[in-house]
Amino acid sequence: MALLNVENLQVSYGLIKAIKGISFHVDEGEIVALIGTNGAGKTTAMHAVAKLLTPDSGKIEFAGTDVTKYPAHKIVRLGMSQVPEGRRIFQELKVKDNLLLGAFSRKDKAEFSGTLEEMYSLFPILKERENQIAGTLSGGEQQMLAVARAMMSHPKLLLLDEPSMGLSPLYVGQIFGMIKKINESGVTVFLVEQNAKQALSLADRAYVLETGNVILEGTGKELLDDKNVRKAYLGEGE
Ligand code: ATP
Repeated sequence: MALLNVENLQVSYGLIKAIKGISFHVDEGEIVALIGTNGAGKTTAMHAVAKLLTPDSGKIEFAGTDVTKYPAHKIVRLGMSQVPEGRRIFQELKVKDNLLLGAFSRKDKAEFSGTLEEMYSLFPILKERENQIAGTLSGGEQQMLAVARAMMSHPKLLLLDEPSMGLSPLYVGQIFGMIKKINESGVTVFLVEQNAKQALSLADRAYVLETGNVILEGTGKELLDDKNVRKAYLGEGE
């Protein structure tokens, strides 16, 4: 069953049409990736889903509800949580306080500590550093914190905008490993990525976005094996 269903989405910035009528869906339990080069419209599509941008037209359904006209805060309460591009953690606050702020929308306050412990077992480095000021963490640790913070709201769907951006290959591998574990714990994942190889290796299914249009879709493996994808997105020759 589709947890997220997007139909004929169009988004503009003034006269610039960034998303030109795309449709995609994410079924419960899946990891789905949207890949594409710089400027393809990935972040715009994600912001429209998270309701940070208002689409010109199209329909967005989440968990069986038409959320096209919902404000962002209401969608968080329905169970959608976003890790923005560039992480945007609270640099001046301690690691633990960043995590607790991630749970602001929860009504079941008593269960915070359970989720906090789950996050610490998934990301042991955050437990070690719980009293450290977040801005002093390395880039990879900050990305882990951003993912863990988004998980604190106990989402059904986790949205990740370029989780590999600016990270060394070692951290990229770790972050993708953690996304897989989060998915195995029952959370559905939708990510946008320029790092096509990593994203397609992780994803059950993926969509390829080019200048605001979906030009290809398939399983991660089908797209990894696709000659055109290999040439255009994985830097391989004929
Ligand atoms: P990147 O990986 O570089 O973030 P992207 O695939 O996420 O790329 P978007 O950031 O969604 O692409 O941008 C899609 C198009 O919309 C680009 O042509 C971009 O220049 C344009 N765009 C993005 N944000 C704005 C804005 N605030 N105002 C005007 N144009 C914008």
